[in-house]
Amino acid sequence: MFWIGEGGRYTFNVFLCGITMAELKFKEGMFVVVALPLPISKNFIYSVPEELTDVIRLGVPVFVPFGRRNLTGYIIGFTDNAPEGVRSVKEIVTPEPLFSSELLGLFTWIANYYLTSIGLIIKVSVPPRTTIREKIIVYAKEGILEGFKENDAAFVIYEELKKRALSKNYIKRKFKHSMDGYKLLLKKGLIYEEVVKTRPVKRGGKEGVQLTSPFDDDRYRELKKSAPKQAEVYKSVSLLPEGLPKSEIYKKFGNTYSVLKALSRKNLITFFEIPFSQKIPYIPKRGGKKPKLTQPQEKAMIKIRDAVEDERYETFLVFGITGSGKTEVYLRTVETLLKRGKGAIVLVPEISLTAQTIEVFKSRFGETVVVYHSRLAEKERVEVWKGIKVGKYRVVIGARFAIFAPVKNLGAIIVDEEHETTYKQKGKEPLYSARDAAVVRARLEKCICILGSATPSVESYYNGRNGKYTFISLPERIDERELPPVEIVDMRKEKDFLLSHSLIEKMRERVKKNEQTILFINRRGFSNYLLCRDCGFSPRCPFCDLTLTYHRKEGLLKCHYCNYEEPAPRLCPECNGSRFFYAGMGTERIEQYLAEKFPELKVMRMDFDTMRKKWAHLESFFRFRKGEANLLLGTQMVAKGFDLPMVTLVGVISGDTVLNFPDFRAQERTFQLLTQVAGRTGRGILGGEVVIQTYSPKHYAIKEAQFHNYEGFYKKELPIRKELNYPPFSRLTRIILSSSEKKIVETSSRQLVQMIEKIIRKKRLKIEVLGPAPCPLSRLKGKYRYHILLKCKKPFLVQQILLPLKNEYNPRNLHILYDIDPVDMM
Ligand code: ADP
Ligand code: ZN
Repeated sequence: MFWIGEGGRYTFNVFLCGITMAELKFKEGMFVVVALPLPISKNFIYSVPEELTDVIRLGVPVFVPFGRRNLTGYIIGFTDNAPEGVRSVKEIVTPEPLFSSELLGLFTWIANYYLTSIGLIIKVSVPPRTTIREKIIVYAKEGILEGFKENDAAFVIYEELKKRALSKNYIKRKFKHSMDGYKLLLKKGLIYEEVVKTRPVKRGGKEGVQLTSPFDDDRYRELKKSAPKQAEVYKSVSLLPEGLPKSEIYKKFGNTYSVLKALSRKNLITFFEIPFSQKIPYIPKRGGKKPKLTQPQEKAMIKIRDAVEDERYETFLVFGITGSGKTEVYLRTVETLLKRGKGAIVLVPEISLTAQTIEVFKSRFGETVVVYHSRLAEKERVEVWKGIKVGKYRVVIGARFAIFAPVKNLGAIIVDEEHETTYKQKGKEPLYSARDAAVVRARLEKCICILGSATPSVESYYNGRNGKYTFISLPERIDERELPPVEIVDMRKEKDFLLSHSLIEKMRERVKKNEQTILFINRRGFSNYLLCRDCGFSPRCPFCDLTLTYHRKEGLLKCHYCNYEEPAPRLCPECNGSRFFYAGMGTERIEQYLAEKFPELKVMRMDFDTMRKKWAHLESFFRFRKGEANLLLGTQMVAKGFDLPMVTLVGVISGDTVLNFPDFRAQERTFQLLTQVAGRTGRGILGGEVVIQTYSPKHYAIKEAQFHNYEGFYKKELPIRKELNYPPFSRLTRIILSSSEKKIVETSSRQLVQMIEKIIRKKRLKIEVLGPAPCPLSRLKGKYRYHILLKCKKPFLVQQILLPLKNEYNPRNLHILYDIDPVDMM
């Protein structure tokens, strides 16, 4: 789905950023090209003060003037030419470069392909604390504000500022709607602003304390008389000869820094820095035994090793049915790389769902494996990033964001479950796809890329079949285990709309045999929506105009799109009626239903509501594997990756929820989801079976999933894509316009379409324009939404016409997102 400039990695920089041939090496007299984290696709040139010429290098973050402010930007190149009035770099933030030229190539490609700025990409990819920020602090002067009432905004702001100075950002947030009052105070001279710089703080690792020499009983007794607290602390430090973190002492004795200080002055204890190491709870230590490879695995490894030894770029599509041992192929690849002194990135769809991957890699390769993602605590993220950069960690596992990991001597990027849509960033710039970026980065680093899945995206499979990727197939399950038989239940014929007769019977059997069941349902909460049976009223989200989901335990109605919530009404707010109908169902309802029907069943629920705590999913996964529950009930979270031999039954409560989405990928998603869930069973010697409940038993996405038949699905799907000119036969761009004012979205989306069509006509481009039309989610979080769809065949064509529009067309009170290769059509 992409393309790289023929002339090497720097050509696309020239193509879109308006800078002619920047270079990667600095020589005296040159100027620096700086990328700023702003949503404009343009880079800036600065001169270098003499005292800094020695430390100027590619990748160094610099503090530079921009308009009336100063910002932190990143050096991405050097040039001999500067525009008139060029300004000068103020200082460097850290002397250490934050990225290599290969990574810069990746940033540049992403910026150009996804119509975003290099600076924004760099900013999201580098660790925190590499930025100098400017903050405006507001102070109050002595004075009296006359002619205002106590609840006037100006009055309230002034009173608050008299108490203490505040940052302007804070004031803006708190008094969003009354900044006029603020301006008035400024004008009257009652308050003033001051710009301060905040620097990245250099905090070392965690500090610990230990004894300087063996425990001395005499000194201890002495201390006990003169300073009992010191004595206590001294004693407790002595209990662990290797020392303990300061925080432990504080936990036990309260904040006793002065006591520690005193002990250290007496030379009884000393401070030391505890080296950082990543702690992942719930990962049991298992000796990673290496199985003998199956024949298809062996064949795959021959191809992969060949590319590794040749040090060439190559992308492999590993198409292996569920349970065929794809992970083992990844492991052997990494083993090969480590032996050659190389490293690897392993991308997983969602870090919270990859207990097993982390476990397997850790147990096989130990300390060199690290988990890297954007939600790590700031401190941990910095340490992990540093560790990766110096080569302490050579195998990086992470979600989307880990594609930017600065792995030394990168040998492979592995994208597990490559069809997952979580690889695409949604909703907020930069809207990049980590899977596609993986292929590009592999090219830039001259290394291999492995895309693996049992249900590849139609695009990747197409590329695999057309020779763009090397196709590798693992057609059988390990130990010749059969794929589980799948029963399709036609819910139109069932009495009970939650669980069919057949599914209930099968669940009963499992309880008797002490085997495990996984139940999959697409929605959390109790019911999809509440419906008043007297007047037909159904409560909706005031911001999204969608029905609210009823969460019974909390007694709340929640919007699953914006998190709005309100208490569930007892009486209908429209007609005062009391007869509510709970339409549809979610995890919570099934949980309750099971508790009533099968009181003997131990159910474990796994969804967004129950898995909020950090690592909670890991804990649940291992508890379920140990057999603490008979049944695991959950949303998507249970559909992925689990390899649990005791699970002999998988039930899909409603197989067609996704099928009816207004999205051209609805069939593909349905097939993938069902095939993946079905693949969670039959993995042990006990075998397994699957029940899928549906209202569309004849649909090909469901029928092919019944036989785990990817090729069958693909053969039916491809002609439809071709006929409608959808990917892989075209590239899509989706432009989403949103505003709190309906009128603005309507007019500007029409305007934008006109402008696009004009350019297309003038340049005679082959681009098809659809829309504007309201998005399927036409109102979201208080914003009205319209979208425009562009289809074309050639890469980097829409970018050329959209880039100038993006930079120039920015009506007030309107937000425009340009989504290249969208995965979300809602
Ligand atoms: P996939 O990722 O393709 O669904 P897994 O990699 O989870 O499949 O493999 C399924 C199971 O088979 C795992 O328990 C794995 O340890 C085991 N396995 C993989 N390769 C082999 C092999 N060559 N011999 C024996 N067992 C294997
Ligand atoms: Zn909402």
